[in-house]
Amino acid sequence: MFFFFVGGLEQQVRRLLKSGAARCINCNSPADLVDYEKVLKLFFVPVWRWPGKEPLMHCNNCKLFFPQSLSPPSFSDQSTSATLLRALRCRSCNKVVEPDFSFCPYCGSSL
Ligand SMILES: [Zn+2]
Ligand SMILES: [Zn+2]
Repeated sequence: MFFFFVGGLEQQVRRLLKSGAARCINCNSPADLVDYEKVLKLFFVPVWRWPGKEPLMHCNNCKLFFPQSLSPPSFSDQSTSATLLRALRCRSCNKVVEPDFSFCPYCGSSL
């Protein structure tokens, strides 16, 4: 169709939400979490634009848009291991207990 040679639908960054929120699934460089909008262009002139439903990840390097769920969970991995490192162990029974507990729920000794 002729229409598609002179116009098309593009995705554009509308607002930066979080810089470097995850890594690009394509080139592995830092990608930003953004609000995006879809722009309909005719003869390279934007004629209509409407906001995207959900924030997307946008790579500054290869300009790829992709859903946040697709990005490798490198950052959440780090926070999980950090949580594990911070986890408190009871000195008497060596069970992992919540850091804000003052007594061990397993053996009752003070932490
Ligand atoms: Zn990329
Ligand atoms: Zn204990």
